[in-house]
Amino acid sequence: MGDELVLTPELRHLKSLLLFSSPLLRSRVLAEVPLPGTDQHMPLQVLELGSEADDVPVLIFVGGIHGVERIGSQVVLAFLETLIQRLQWDHSLTDGLEHLRLVFLPIANPVGLIRQTRANGRGVDLMRNAPVEAPTGAAFLGGGHRLGGWLPWYRGKKGEIEPEALALKALVMGEARRSPCVLALDVHSGFGMYDRLWFPYARSREPVPTLAEYYALYKLMHRTYPHLDYLFEPQSRHYITHGDLWDWMTIEAQADQRLLLPLTLEMGSWRWVKKNPLQLRSLQGLFNPVKAHRVQRVLRRHTVLMEFLIRAVRAYPAWLPSENERVFRQRAAMRRWYEQYPDG
Ligand SMILES: [Zn+2]
Repeated sequence: MGDELVLTPELRHLKSLLLFSSPLLRSRVLAEVPLPGTDQHMPLQVLELGSEADDVPVLIFVGGIHGVERIGSQVVLAFLETLIQRLQWDHSLTDGLEHLRLVFLPIANPVGLIRQTRANGRGVDLMRNAPVEAPTGAAFLGGGHRLGGWLPWYRGKKGEIEPEALALKALVMGEARRSPCVLALDVHSGFGMYDRLWFPYARSREPVPTLAEYYALYKLMHRTYPHLDYLFEPQSRHYITHGDLWDWMTIEAQADQRLLLPLTLEMGSWRWVKKNPLQLRSLQGLFNPVKAHRVQRVLRRHTVLMEFLIRAVRAYPAWLPSENERVFRQRAAMRRWYEQYPDG
C-alpha cells in the first residue's frame, strides 16, 4: 500500500490493528489486487487469532465482499478490535483461543471499497463470480448476468474467476480441509428491513446437504438467545442467483466430506433509510447507516451473534446432530424452511 494513496477509514482501521503485537495474533497477505488507474496493488489482509493446530474448530469472519457495503467491514473490524483489546486482560478469551482459531478477512474487496462500488476493480460482482449455475435460472439481472461490467451483478467472463474470489476460496477451503468444523460469517448490508442470517443454497430451492446441521445451529441460537431477532433461513427463499461463492465452497466441501457451514449476515439497510430518507441521496446511504449514533448501534448490535458463534464453534460436538438425530433435524428443517413456503 503506497503512502500517497488515500485510505478509507476501514483501511486505516485495519492498518492500525496490524500494528498490535501479540503471539496470539498473526497476519498475512492472501493476494494483491491491482488498483485500476494506478500502479498500486491492494493487499487482501488476513488476521488470525488462536490455535494453529489442525484439529481445532475454526470460525471465519468476512467483510466487504461488496465494496459499497462498508458497514460490513466496519462490523468485522470493530469486533476484531474488541478481541485484540481483550487479549491483554481476558483470560477466558486467551484460554479459549487455545482450542479454536478465528480467521478474519475484514476487507475482501479493497478496490471496491476505495472506489465505492459493489463490484471489484474489473467490474465483477464477486458474489456472482463462482462457476456455479442456477439450474432453473436466476433472478433477472440481480441473479447474475454476463452482459458486461457496466451493469451491476456482472458475473465476469465465463471461466474467469477473480483473484479476490480465488483467494477467499483458498482461505476457506484450506481451513475446511484441516479442521473438523468450520463456521463462517460473511457480513453484508442492503436487503430489506430485517437482519437476516442466510445459509446456502443461493442457486436453487434444493435443500443443502448440511440442512440438519444448520437447523441444529439455529435451534441452539434460538434457545440460548430467544430475543435475538435475526431471520434465519435459506438464501433461496429470497432470490436465486448464479455464481454464489458460498454455494461453490459448500459443494466442494461436501464432495470432500468436510464440514463447512457458512452464514451470510445480511443487515437490513432499508430500516436506516426509512429513519433517514435523506441518505437516499447517495449510493453509500443505500447500504450504510449515515448518522453516527446509528453506526454505533449497528456496530454494537451484532456482538452477541459473533460471541455466540465463537462459543458454538468451539463446542461443536455438543450441538451437531448425531447420525440418528440428523433424520429428525432434517425433517423439522424441511417443515420450517421448505414445505411451509413451497413457493419461496
Ligand atoms: Zn452484499
